[in-house]
Amino acid sequence: MTTHITLSKRALALTSSAIREILKVTERPEVVSFAGGLPSPATFPVERMREASNRVLTDAPHAALQYGPTEGFLPLREWVAAHLTRNGAEVSPGRVLITTGSQQGLDLLGKALIDEGSKVLVETPSYLGALQAFSLFQPNFVPMASDGQGIQTDALDADTLDGARFMYCLPNFQNPTGRRLPLERRKALVERAAGAGVPVVEDDPYGELYYSGAPLPSLLSFNPEGGVYMGSFSKVLAPGLRLGYVVAPEPLFAKLVQAKQASDLHTPSFSQRMVHAVIQDGFLDQHIPVIRDLYARQCALMMAALEKHFPAEAKWDRPEGGMFIWVTLPEGIDTGELLLKAIAQNVAFVPGAPFFAGNPMRNTLRLSFVTVPAEKIDAGMEVLGNLVKAEIAA
Ligand code: PMP
Repeated sequence: MTTHITLSKRALALTSSAIREILKVTERPEVVSFAGGLPSPATFPVERMREASNRVLTDAPHAALQYGPTEGFLPLREWVAAHLTRNGAEVSPGRVLITTGSQQGLDLLGKALIDEGSKVLVETPSYLGALQAFSLFQPNFVPMASDGQGIQTDALDADTLDGARFMYCLPNFQNPTGRRLPLERRKALVERAAGAGVPVVEDDPYGELYYSGAPLPSLLSFNPEGGVYMGSFSKVLAPGLRLGYVVAPEPLFAKLVQAKQASDLHTPSFSQRMVHAVIQDGFLDQHIPVIRDLYARQCALMMAALEKHFPAEAKWDRPEGGMFIWVTLPEGIDTGELLLKAIAQNVAFVPGAPFFAGNPMRNTLRLSFVTVPAEKIDAGMEVLGNLVKAEIAA
């Protein structure tokens, strides 16, 4: 018997990205992939997880395997609140919602804040996963002017801000550009948004991954009462845990909780308790510096390879943290086409176009470097550099 399936308009609007299909081949072992956005598995604290998991199953087996509150495991919410407070944004545990990865936070925010046609301000370019999550609710994306340092706060005029449901910002080591928003712009951004009554949604999975010096204050720290902040354990512990969090003011917080309840009741009790058992005694204070050192070393190898193999016409910034380098090639080069040529030579990257809500810059690309074996970086970048030189010469 055949079944007649009528898909919703929302489902019909969903598309699989062509690039995702192309990038499937990057899983082949012979491919040097600068494409995946995965954190390095070498940093996953497997033994700590094993111990913590045993401890949880010994000390609180029934609670760990039982349903729990939608808001999350209270000691973990308290840990998040204390962590953010230590970093300069005084937050109470009652405003912390534990989510199934911060990606779920994006979905819940879309559900709670976006109607069809709602104006949503996004960076140029922005995180593809957020554009996808928000798109399900059919917003009108309005790109904010951005430069090598991130959002150009001077361009945030009344027209741009007027009527926006929220502004989606990635101030630390942005995905895809690796950019960090300077201090003065952070202040100006929060002031201008607050002045126009536009909530700032800050997505910050990479904030702890600065390679040296000190972190810059979060956007939340300039408006702890009114800001929305999303954090994640994916880049500082392990992404397979699917653990993130959202901090939001009322009445948004209550709506996020209701939306989450409808979506998955709560984030797995076991993951929450295990992560709490791992981090409660300050483990991240020793662990994160190990991740920073590894990523800084990998980034230095990439910088050396870019200098050595890429032509002067290509432009890139030196990231101060995170997992990504953004490269801009001369206009006229389409990195989607370049990708096919690179894959034919067993090298992969992500073309920049899908990261743009508005007019895509097709001459851009994202390189992620934390999972590439150090000894393969130079050879992989040589292949890419030669392809770029050939495009320029063509
Ligand atoms: N936001 C940004 C900017 C990201 O790069 C990612 C992961 N790629 C996420 C959110 C989602 O992270 P997770 O759901 O694993 O917490």
